[in-house]
Amino acid sequence: MDTRIKKIADTVSAYPDFPKPGIVFRDIFPILANPAVFSDLINVMVERVHASCPTPDVVVGLESRGFLFGTPLALALKVPFVPVRKKGKLPGEVKQVSFTLEYGTDTFEAQAGRIKEGQNVLIVDDLLATGGSMKAACELVTSMGAKVTLCLVCIELADLKGRDKVKHPVDTILQF
Ligand code: AMP
Repeated sequence: MDTRIKKIADTVSAYPDFPKPGIVFRDIFPILANPAVFSDLINVMVERVHASCPTPDVVVGLESRGFLFGTPLALALKVPFVPVRKKGKLPGEVKQVSFTLEYGTDTFEAQAGRIKEGQNVLIVDDLLATGGSMKAACELVTSMGAKVTLCLVCIELADLKGRDKVKHPVDTILQF
């Protein structure tokens, strides 16, 4: 195993029964508290992008922890970063997609014009659970005429089979 990935895995904390009973919350903030590990993670992500898809035209990060990995990754790849946020937080004209949660629905938005027709897009988030957020983000990006070339996340909760829901290539650094 890549020693960098082992270090990243050892740095993630697990909190049973947070934020509610039955959920094991995987906390990525200790990675950000350790610059050497954070830097290793971004380097590993850059390598995964180069290994599995054309250099993207745009990196999209999902609110909110997807911003933490998406921005340094975009900077390292020297391409623009575009945030996808929950409804009502982005100014100006927005494109949106609604999606189903365990209870009720939610809406993701991106600013119109930030993602252009025909662009190759890399979508980044901290964690893939049921895959609902990633699936919705893919729909939003494709509705803007762009192509999702890779969905890259730090942590995959493999038992939840989220990647089966996402109809685009998925790569994950850690699996729990
Ligand atoms: P999902 O749409 O079910 O794939 O959920 C993914 C989103 O929910 C990610 O943006 C995560 O930040 C968050 N999330 C879901 N489950 C967990 C978990 N066990 N630990 C930490 N974050 C989680």
